[in-house]
This record gives sequence, structure tokens and C-alpha cells, in this order.
Amino acid sequence: MSALLCDIRPGDEVIMPTYTFVSTANAFALRGAVIRFADSERETPSISADEIEALITPKTKAVVVVHYGGVACDLDRICDIVRQHKLFLIEDAAHAIDSYWNGKPLGSFGDLATFSFHETKNIGCGEGGMLVINNAKMHETAEIVWEKGTNRSQFYRGQVNKYNWQTLGSSFLPSDLTAACLYAQLQELDSIQTQRKEIWHRYQNALASFPVRYGASANGHLYYIESSRENVLEDFAAAGIQALSHYITLHDSPFYADKHDGRELPNATRYQKTLIRLPIYVGLTTAEQNEITEHVFLLQKNPST
Ligand SMILES: *Cc1c(COP(=O)(O)O)cnc(C)c1O
Repeated sequence: MSALLCDIRPGDEVIMPTYTFVSTANAFALRGAVIRFADSERETPSISADEIEALITPKTKAVVVVHYGGVACDLDRICDIVRQHKLFLIEDAAHAIDSYWNGKPLGSFGDLATFSFHETKNIGCGEGGMLVINNAKMHETAEIVWEKGTNRSQFYRGQVNKYNWQTLGSSFLPSDLTAACLYAQLQELDSIQTQRKEIWHRYQNALASFPVRYGASANGHLYYIESSRENVLEDFAAAGIQALSHYITLHDSPFYADKHDGRELPNATRYQKTLIRLPIYVGLTTAEQNEITEHVFLLQKNPST
């Protein structure tokens, strides 16, 4: 929907991080966009504002940012850059529910912002998501795109006496079952968030490995450490701890490698190799968490064995 609402056409360039999930890119690739993949910052896995600036051309139409781990990317600079170049800003806020930048919610900075309710996110309904529309010019079209490209919503409100095909759209509505699951999760949001943030802060107090930009908050979406030790995930698994890595960078993926501009993206490549996510979920006990942090300390003491 974001790509349709920004009227992305074949050949338009869209800048986004390479260190992200494929959903970020698919939406725009499906409209024929040329994806310009940007590196992460050195200090955080989020997109580098310098990289965005360097990649802008007359064909650039939009910038997509990911607030990695629910912690704001460099929004002050990025908002300036997109304003100066008159580009659309889309926040991939998949990780970022209940997170803030200088007290203002993430998802309220871009023209559009997308939240995910996939089972792996803070709240979930299996598969699902939410589009936030901050650009008032897009409201009416969004409602039409959402309803298969028809003005059926206007028909329901009695504003027109027939509805028909108005623009390109699809069935972006949630099913009844999905909506019911999500409703229950939304009602529990505060309690889920209190517990997730408590776990996150316990990790941060013990390990201090997640850099949080001044002005940003953390929403307990994920917690990571970096380790270049070999077989580290197997090592955690042997201790009964499910640690996970992600993302496999998109710029050198089988689908995109021959379309990429050939630049190396060293920070993202480093995160792909070294970033390890520790367990974080409602119900993780303090005792279990202590075991996990003890294991991280052991690992840090013997970094190469
Ligand atoms: C989970 C996730 C998405 C969305 O995934 P869907 O399965 O499409 O809901 C998008 N971007 C990022 C960064 C994600 O982690």
C-alpha cells in the first residue's frame, strides 16, 4: 500500500537499508522500483543518514527507514534530508510499536509508517499489520486502495449510491479471525510492554550492548549482542538457550545481487555475521534470564574457544 500511495513507478529509485527483512523491499520492487540499498551505521544496525544522502539522485522518490529493534534511527537528520529533497519518507516500524523519539511515537514521522503484527513482533495475530497515514493527502486514496481499489467505504457511509473500481488496489483488509486475535492483543498491550521492557532493561543493565541514541526509547522488541566467535549459536543451543541471528543482507541476495550497484556495505555485512539476538518474550523468568547473561559473560571471557 505504501508503494501504491507514493505512486512508485518502474525506474523510480527507493533508498532503504540492506539490513532488513524482505518485506521492506518487496513492496517497492513489486511496483518496478530500483532499490538502492544503504549501509547500516557503524554503531547501530539502523540505516546511515550519510548513506541516504550519498544515494539520492534525480530519480529518487522515497526513503524507507527501519527503526531497528524498536530504537529510533537518526530521525533528526533523516527528516531534514527528505524535506530538503522533497522525498517521501516511509517508516518501516515493524519493530517499533510503543517506542518514541523525543517523546513522539515512532510511526508519526514519515508520510507513511508500517507496523507488523507477525507472530515474532511485540504483539501479533499470526500475520497482519497496520499502515499509519500521516500525509493527509493520502487518506482518501488509502481507503480506496485498501478496499481492492474501490470506493466501497464511501458506499457504506452512504456518500455514493454505487461503488466501482477507482484505482489499483488489493484486499489489504484483515480477516475477522485475524482482527479478533489482534483486538485481544491490543487490549493487553500495556501489560505485554511492561514485561518486555523489564526484560530488555535487565539485559541492558547486565550487558550494555544495545546502543540507544540520545532522545530514543527502547520498547523491548529485541535484545542483541555482537560476537564474532564461530559456532556461537550452536554453543548457546548446547546450553539450552535459543539465540538467533538475522538478517541476511538484501543487496547481495540471490534475487538482488545482479541488480545492486556493486558497492560493499561493510557495517550491515558485519551485523549479519556477528549480531545475536537473545531470548525475549513475555514469561521469560528472571532465573532464566540470569542463566542467559551468565552464558554471555562466559562467552565474553573466552571469545575464541
Ligand atoms: C517483521 C518485519 C516486517 C514485516 O513482516 P511481515 O511478515 O510482512 O509482517 C517488515 N520489516 C521488518 C524490519 C520486519 O522485521
